[in-house]
Amino acid sequence: MSCLFCKIIAREIPANIIAEDEHCLAFRDINPQAPTHVLVIPKEHVASLNQMTDPALGGRVLAFARDVAAAEGLAERGYRVVLNTNAEAGQTVFHLHAHVLGGRAQGWPPG
Ligand code: AMP
Ligand code: ZN
Repeated sequence: MSCLFCKIIAREIPANIIAEDEHCLAFRDINPQAPTHVLVIPKEHVASLNQMTDPALGGRVLAFARDVAAAEGLAERGYRVVLNTNAEAGQTVFHLHAHVLGGRAQGWPPG
């Protein structure tokens, strides 16, 4: 298995895991871009949103991201959920992941 995030799921490499259920795992980004920067991933390997055939998987990731944001105290003040997909969006890890970003004001449009 060569996928970095599959190795985090398997506990083969360490990560700062903050939440987990049957389908999803949430851990802190190693290079945070905001005071809260958490990655939410499905436990099933899906390379990107382009390969996501089961819409329920996307729904579970999104709901888990919402719950992580709430647990981080961001529900009322606000937060951003981002899925970078392929080269021009800057995707570097090809295991679908939602970035949960919050704790500071964020610009629009994104970079
Ligand atoms: P993306 O550019 O959307 O593919 O995001 C990949 C994210 O994974 C980046 O924000 C990285 O900082 C993060 N990342 C890479 N390796 C690790 C790791 N071992 N633990 C936690 N986050 C990581
Ligand atoms: Zn994977």
